[in-house]
Amino acid sequence: MEIKAPRGTSDILPEKAGIWQFLERRAISLFERYGYRRIITPIFEYTELFRQGIGESTDIVQKEMYTFRDRRGRSLTLRPEATAPVVRAFLEHDLLKHSQPVKLYYIGPMFRYERPQAGRYREFWQIGVEAIGSLDPALDGEVILLLMHYLKDVGLKHLQLHLNSMGCFKCRPSFTESLEGYLQPRIGEFCSDCKRRIKLNPLRVFDCKKEACQNLLSNAPRILDHLCEDCKVHFHEVQEYLKMMDLNHVINPSLVRGLDYYTRTTFEVISPHLGAQNALGGGGRYDNLVEGCGGPPTPATGFALGTERVAMALEKEGVSLPKDSTLDVFLAIVGRDQKPDGFALLSRIREEDIAADMDYGGRSLKGQMKLADKLGVSYALFLGSKELGRGVCRIRDMKTGEQVEVKLEEVPKWLKIHLK
Ligand SMILES: [Zn+2]
Ligand SMILES: [Zn+2]
Repeated sequence: MEIKAPRGTSDILPEKAGIWQFLERRAISLFERYGYRRIITPIFEYTELFRQGIGESTDIVQKEMYTFRDRRGRSLTLRPEATAPVVRAFLEHDLLKHSQPVKLYYIGPMFRYERPQAGRYREFWQIGVEAIGSLDPALDGEVILLLMHYLKDVGLKHLQLHLNSMGCFKCRPSFTESLEGYLQPRIGEFCSDCKRRIKLNPLRVFDCKKEACQNLLSNAPRILDHLCEDCKVHFHEVQEYLKMMDLNHVINPSLVRGLDYYTRTTFEVISPHLGAQNALGGGGRYDNLVEGCGGPPTPATGFALGTERVAMALEKEGVSLPKDSTLDVFLAIVGRDQKPDGFALLSRIREEDIAADMDYGGRSLKGQMKLADKLGVSYALFLGSKELGRGVCRIRDMKTGEQVEVKLEEVPKWLKIHLK
């Protein structure tokens, strides 16, 4: 039997990995400019972390986790998201001692057992930030600005920012009560998932993607009408920061983001090109999660974006990305005898931080030139017995076709100067 990659996963081959690298490099450079530092947490955690952190009533915990027992019978889960693991690490390593907020970012694969479709996979990559330890609405502003800045920075133009407030534990109960009052008389008309949601946590009905359920919710009470004074002021200030940065946004009262830990600001960035799975990324505040994981009351906020979705949107918008090949130099050997000297020269070139390669497939000189062309290098080097005898190497500028002879020991320096 032919073995293939598991359903809902994909191999990221070099061409696509080039886009991944580009997206990661841009994230690292931009996030660090905003004062965020990288954190790497395990791919799997104890299942209990996600049950407590994400919430029992969410779709993720109910039916989407990859949970298994290890050889000692402990229940482990492949991480479906990274916020709970980051908070766990924050507490475990006592990052509370550091000056707050602690600003972190992560890059890596997440796992959810969902029906695969365009833009939705069982293994998917996320890039995200978490800022833990501040209630300042300016921090909400910064996190949203950073997400928008990043998406524009990688080349996307068509972005819609959706915004909502989920209230706090003070004002949410009155909203939940009024929502329940709205849902109970209509419960028969909702799908079976929603019936379960209404029992466990009525707020989760907003996660339903079914049109019939969405229509039933069009006149549902709005959380924004139930915000307490503190939440109202906070939400207003967040919007003032967005206005100041000219970030246009749409208020979307049904934006609840599928996780129980969100409080106050939630946001999502939508691409009009992506169809059903149109959210490029999103996030919000989670002021109770640190406490819920056993720490002291610690407000926090963050976002995550989907690498596959951003890559899809870049393709749909026709954004041209940096060229795939990063090789600058190809060294061609005229005859077998020159291979050892060529190999040594190649090593010296690479030691100068120049990306260079040679042929290992026994190609003819013509074949090597074809390869150099295909690789899109700036310079091709020729090493034959005549050149070696005189201690030189022929260098061809692949754009102009011009050739020069350079002394062997000066080749790395010559390339360094001319590649700038
Ligand atoms: Zn409130
Ligand atoms: Zn439903």
